[in-house]
Amino acid sequence: MLEIKDLHVEVDGKKIINGLSLEVGAGEVHAIMGPNGSGKSTLAYVLAGREGYEVTKGSITFDGQDLLEMEPEERAAAGVFLAMQYPVEIPGVANMYFLRQAMNAVRKARGQPEIGAAEFMKKLREKARLMGVKDELLKRDLNFGFSGGEKKRNEILQMAMLEPRLCILDETDSGLDIDALRTVADGVNALRDPSRGMIVITHYQRLLDYIVPDRVHVLARGAIQRSGSKELALELEEGGYGALLGPEFAHE
Ligand code: ADP
Ligand code: MG
Ligand code: MG
Repeated sequence: MLEIKDLHVEVDGKKIINGLSLEVGAGEVHAIMGPNGSGKSTLAYVLAGREGYEVTKGSITFDGQDLLEMEPEERAAAGVFLAMQYPVEIPGVANMYFLRQAMNAVRKARGQPEIGAAEFMKKLREKARLMGVKDELLKRDLNFGFSGGEKKRNEILQMAMLEPRLCILDETDSGLDIDALRTVADGVNALRDPSRGMIVITHYQRLLDYIVPDRVHVLARGAIQRSGSKELALELEEGGYGALLGPEFAHE
């Protein structure tokens, strides 16, 4: 469903991704691990279509379409969803209003009618309960004054509401205590589906005890240095980047 070939990306003239290739099939969960600054968020932003990320070489196809030719809104409509490492605060826009707009934008792009108010509320209440997102948080301005954990749980709530084809989670586990981590992992696991692909970006092996990936990739210096099964994450946890990739990667 997703095929990234020899991707090269620059930000502000600085080379950040250097020849990254990755294939994610429907139904698969891929974990991407890597040291700080290795380009994990950059990859996530490039997939979502954020401005300022210049692809200088390579290709990305999604469901047979050229993803790089698509606007961010078209990507969202096609089912690409990014749960951000640092979710943005939007003062003046209520969380639930934002969610309904996002849902309807996707539905409109797919030629579906708007979701009715009652149906929306029913679904929202059900998913919010699963994610432990309180009613009060649904009425507040999006992410405004939310704690780190509340922001992350809210991101997964958005994901559960939008039911994307490709879910990208950028360090959704960072800043979560163990209970919140479990809630988030349960929410993600509930969305595992034969028709859906997932890219789970994380710094820590711990998350992968709860969201068990089909494949693990180690990203360093803007390229995938190693790929393997879930055991690769344990190997990395034990020896660090130096032991896994060579001494030159020990201090990244
Ligand atoms: P990660 O998510 O793996 O920690 P990032 O993708 O956020 O890494 O960043 C990769 C590298 O790109 C880092 O060295 C970072 O400083 C640099 N970088 C990210 N955004 C910009 C930017 N807007 N301008 C210049 N450098 C950037
Ligand atoms: Mg980082
Ligand atoms: Mg990052």
